[in-house]
Amino acid sequence: MRDLLKQTIPNLTDEACDKFVAYYDLLIDWNARMNLTAITEPSEVAKKHFYDSLAALPYLPDGAKIADVGTGAGFPAIPLLIMNPTLRITLVDSLQKRLTFLEEVLKTLDLRAEIVHARAEDFGRDPKYRGAFDATVSRAVASLPVLLELTVPLLRVGGKAYCYKGDVSEELPLAKSALHLLHTSAEAVPVASDYGARTLVICTKNAPTPSTYPRKAGLPSKKPL
Ligand code: SAM
Repeated sequence: MRDLLKQTIPNLTDEACDKFVAYYDLLIDWNARMNLTAITEPSEVAKKHFYDSLAALPYLPDGAKIADVGTGAGFPAIPLLIMNPTLRITLVDSLQKRLTFLEEVLKTLDLRAEIVHARAEDFGRDPKYRGAFDATVSRAVASLPVLLELTVPLLRVGGKAYCYKGDVSEELPLAKSALHLLHTSAEAVPVASDYGARTLVICTKNAPTPSTYPRKAGLPSKKPL
């Protein structure tokens, strides 16, 4: 696994490499008891989970306050944190058992992050978190119009939602109305990959989010903006 990681992830220090190995071991161990990932081959995990999670890394300044909405088994937040431990990350998911796994990951890897068990719709209405983040990161959580309603309310004005996506040629035009209603603009940046089209959709919040968003839990996906 060490050699694979060094080949796959540029500029990997020995310390970061050790943490990725420990994360991989925990992922495989816990995956035997709970559904965390269908990808388990070392080379596939190195590429499709670890390397893939790092797409937003160059855009995140030291100390940035970030929410990973729908983090699941910790992607993309944990790889980002391994590479830059100064990031102040809040891990959000509605499934408690995945958060129990993440508590163990943080402890074993000696990393610090906040863990919050919540639906993103409720999290985005909590005054403690609404408008409090420089950035959000999200991978494989929802279609772009739904994801924008779940993440943009969390951002300060000027903050950015980094949405990890595949081919967005059909999805991006469908987000036009959500971008407009949430006062947000989007830029699609292709990500280098030999495992299919990967795109980072970078959405900038240009003005405060109307208080109507996010709507109550379930509604964003049932009736996307
Ligand atoms: N981001 C991880 C990744 O890339 O592997 C997990 C992806 S998994 C397919 C989607 C995750 O989003 C699940 O853990 C699910 O519980 C969480 N999720 C979906 N909708 C959510 C919501 N409205 N609020 C909080 N978490 C949500």
